[in-house]
Amino acid sequence: MSKEYDVAIIGAGSAGLTAQEEVIKHTDNYVLIDDGPLGTTCARVGCMPSKALIAVADDFHKCGFFDEYGISGTQGLVPDHKKIMARVRAMRDEFAGGVIQEMSGFMDKVIRKRARFIDANTLDLGDETIRAKSIIIATGSKPFIPEPWLPFKEFIIDTDQFFELETLPRTMAVFGLGVIGIELGQALHRIGVDVTAVTRRKTAGGLTDPKLEEYAFEHFSKEMKIALGPAEILGKTETGLEVGAGSKRWTVDRVLIATGRRPVLKDLNLECLNIDLDDKGMPVFDRQTLQIGNLPVFIAGDVNGLKPILHEAADDGTIAAYNACAGSVTPFKKRVPLQITFSSPDIAIAGLSHKALIQQGIDHVVGEASWEELGRARMMLGKAAGRARIYAEPQKGRLLGAELMAPAGEHMAHLLAWAMGANLTLKEILGMPFYHPVPEEALLDAFFQIAEQIQEPLPSPILEKAEGRSHGK
Ligand SMILES: Cc1cc2nc3c(=O)[nH]c(=O)nc-3n(C[C@H](O)[C@H](O)[C@H](O)COP(=O)(O)OP(=O)(O)OC[C@H]3O[C@@H](n4cnc5c(N)ncnc54)[C@H](O)[C@@H]3O)c2cc1C
Repeated sequence: MSKEYDVAIIGAGSAGLTAQEEVIKHTDNYVLIDDGPLGTTCARVGCMPSKALIAVADDFHKCGFFDEYGISGTQGLVPDHKKIMARVRAMRDEFAGGVIQEMSGFMDKVIRKRARFIDANTLDLGDETIRAKSIIIATGSKPFIPEPWLPFKEFIIDTDQFFELETLPRTMAVFGLGVIGIELGQALHRIGVDVTAVTRRKTAGGLTDPKLEEYAFEHFSKEMKIALGPAEILGKTETGLEVGAGSKRWTVDRVLIATGRRPVLKDLNLECLNIDLDDKGMPVFDRQTLQIGNLPVFIAGDVNGLKPILHEAADDGTIAAYNACAGSVTPFKKRVPLQITFSSPDIAIAGLSHKALIQQGIDHVVGEASWEELGRARMMLGKAAGRARIYAEPQKGRLLGAELMAPAGEHMAHLLAWAMGANLTLKEILGMPFYHPVPEEALLDAFFQIAEQIQEPLPSPILEKAEGRSHGK
């Protein structure tokens, strides 16, 4: 006899654990299935260890500017790769350990086995089958090595392996200049690894606005080596691995692969569910309910391929769990999109990206900001760089989206996303305080440019008049 549950969650990552938090509000009769290492991708091999490495790299990078500050003697500082990686791992262990500690309250609900569908209510766990009224797929994503490169696996490191390195290779090619490629590639370069990043197009960190893509590419090219072209692995040499991009060929000790991740769907036997697949082979599901077809099956987190970032995975977990437990299925609105790349300067997209605006044919005006001449950015050595393009609707200048590469960009992206979430008009935004001197001041240029293009003129002065107190002089 199979055990019967109200809800089965496959995957105890960020989406699965958030789903668990919602499920327990509705039922105690649930199970969480995971056969992999616990602690979540985010804490073990993702957000957290990568940011721990970036923190070291950014601080060490400042040594290169210290002479200009009037501080001498920093030239003698040497990054100890072994110690750096050991600290990153120690922090990683704390973060992942914290997650596991939190799970200790419900470990009796966790089954450490691999799940496979038998039908929409039944899972094969190897030596047992279980049944559930609803099932949540929260199996995450994995780094992907293209088949032609598999024979060179001994030279290839993916992000699942990277943080286990005891020390760092002398030379590295980083394939891909998306979010993970630029974050890790720049950090490795900054702590003295001889890095060459490879990108197919002149872009970085997930930007989509051609003007910013070009700017970011040029900026990062000044700091580190970037080769343009499809990445190639040409073969082993006596000293390492020969790689190529365009007409360039060179030999490296290791390749860090950051060319994209794939949803973990292959082994779930979804074929047995007779569901529709899209042109990428992904199950067709409702983006607002996360339900697959009309089945009692929901898909949450990286595995659904919508937005492979943590807060989206967590929201997905909540939505999937709510719908898995409720008698009917409810669509949920998404928060304002927000994506941050922790390069230096930060890259971020808040709201609609340029690509989304163009694809959806949304009418908009654009304001531009720059941090190159901004006083505060110039004081902070190495920080006087960055541009933003802010997109607004042409009537009242309500913000639609923004792409930026800026010092403290992670904070400004939040500010912009929150202004979008509150649906503020340009007049309302300009009614807010802007302190001096802060990086946010640069945004004013973009807002004033938008003001000149919108149909509804802003009052002059912009300051709100106090009611009923006007009187003769
Ligand atoms: C290097 C790197 C840096 C990142 N940085 C950031 C960042 O700064 N900010 C941000 O927002 N996001 C970042 N991300 C993305 C973020 O980590 C992910 O979006 C998030 O962890 C996804 O969570 P998840 O629950 O979907 O998947 P996971 O946490 O991967 O959980 C999936 C779980 O499912 C289990 N599983 C899979 N298949 C089965 C099966 N058949 N049976 C049982 N169990 C199964 C796995 O063992 C795993 O535990 C980063 C990712 C990487 C790789």
